[in-house]
Amino acid sequence: MTLRVAVVGSGPAGSSAAETLVKAGIETYLFERKLDNAKPCGGAIPLCMVSEFDLPAHVIDRRVRKMKMISPSNREVDIFIEKEDEYIGMCRREILDGFMRDRAVSLGTILINGTVHQLEIPKTSSEPYVIHYHDHATAEGGVGTPKTLEVDVVIGADGANSRIAKAIDAGDYNYAIAFQERIRIPEDKMAYYEDRAEMYVGNDVSPDFYAWVFPKYDHVAVGTGTMKPNQALIKQLQAGIRARAASRIEGGKIIKVEAHPIPEHPRPRRVVGRVALVGDAAGTVTKSSGEGIYFAAKSGRMCAETIVERSNSGKRIPTEADLKEYIKLWDKKYGITYLVLDILQRVFYRTDATREAFVEMCADRDVQKLTFDSYLYKTVVPANPLIQMKITAKTLGSLLRGSALAP
Ligand SMILES: Cc1cc2nc3c(=O)[nH]c(=O)nc-3n(C[C@H](O)[C@H](O)[C@H](O)COP(=O)(O)OP(=O)(O)OC[C@H]3O[C@@H](n4cnc5c(N)ncnc54)[C@H](O)[C@@H]3O)c2cc1C
Repeated sequence: MTLRVAVVGSGPAGSSAAETLVKAGIETYLFERKLDNAKPCGGAIPLCMVSEFDLPAHVIDRRVRKMKMISPSNREVDIFIEKEDEYIGMCRREILDGFMRDRAVSLGTILINGTVHQLEIPKTSSEPYVIHYHDHATAEGGVGTPKTLEVDVVIGADGANSRIAKAIDAGDYNYAIAFQERIRIPEDKMAYYEDRAEMYVGNDVSPDFYAWVFPKYDHVAVGTGTMKPNQALIKQLQAGIRARAASRIEGGKIIKVEAHPIPEHPRPRRVVGRVALVGDAAGTVTKSSGEGIYFAAKSGRMCAETIVERSNSGKRIPTEADLKEYIKLWDKKYGITYLVLDILQRVFYRTDATREAFVEMCADRDVQKLTFDSYLYKTVVPANPLIQMKITAKTLGSLLRGSALAP
């Protein structure tokens, strides 16, 4: 037999899954409803993503080596990446997603430009899943030509509003709403953002997250997020970040306004039968940083690797238990990262006093190094015990000075 796998959604999660499957010789279908999709996103990726996913230079618009943290009282702390060859990559999602999808297709993935609207669940473990979709490639306008495809395994990589998650009753998750304006600013203002990004914290810009100005190809993305999804509040917070960054983005023209949910935690069920969820569909974004691109791509790859291994490179149909192995591996590898970032968010994004303490702490070189190493390489590099003690003492000192530990 030859295993047939459908991957629904060609964001970073779906394309990396498809690439791994097709390289192992598995018959792989990749569904994408919108081939020029520009996912609303800050587009910041860690350095390790560039090497691990072999991304070429043209996918990275900017290499950020300076991060400015701005406290509620507008205290500014500059964080520098010291090593010449280290940076945070800034990319446009339409370019990154297009590259990763095209590469999977060039390796043999069968791309279907269609919207999946229904997943028919088989009654027995040997029957196929039937995917119902509207094919946009063969239709002239309208919703597309209705078609079906039978497969043995489905990977749901269709983002935060996942249809596949609904079809398998994967359960809900809480989500934040992120709102972003892309603003074209005058050249002299843009020069400031050449290799710099900014993070703002404070009740005026977000009650539980941060706001940002991230440099893109020829403009900046100015946005904010909150776990209290309420339209009036989001408008007020966006006005807050625009006001705080006013002098730096003066004379700018809004070229795009976008908003999208960001999952806060994994869904209750990420594998049901022979269907596995990856990326935002599964809920792999981290708290605190709201980082999801790398984790989406990694989860897609890890899920696909498990399918390759458990199906003996496509020679047998994997079971639910086989697919659940991917969840076990994932939670083992990243469980602690999610926990630490969740705690950080709860402690430091709580009040303006804790946010002041957070920014004060970021002025410390040891804290900067630890934070950047963890972000850029996704490894919690243990500091030597003396530095670790120093960091702990400084953290407590900052929190106490700002009376941030008061209930
Ligand atoms: C405003 C904002 C800013 C962010 N900034 C950052 C950041 O700076 N760095 C970072 O790491 N993360 C950031 N994130 C999070 C990041 O965007 C997501 O975690 C990431 O896109 C998840 O990738 P994915 O492949 O799982 O899903 P997605 O990128 O959402 O891709 C899903 C794909 O599936 C397709 N699709 C959906 N439904 C169907 C269907 N029924 N049929 C066919 N195709 C379908 C969609 O068109 C899309 O291409 C941000 C998110 C938001 C909202």
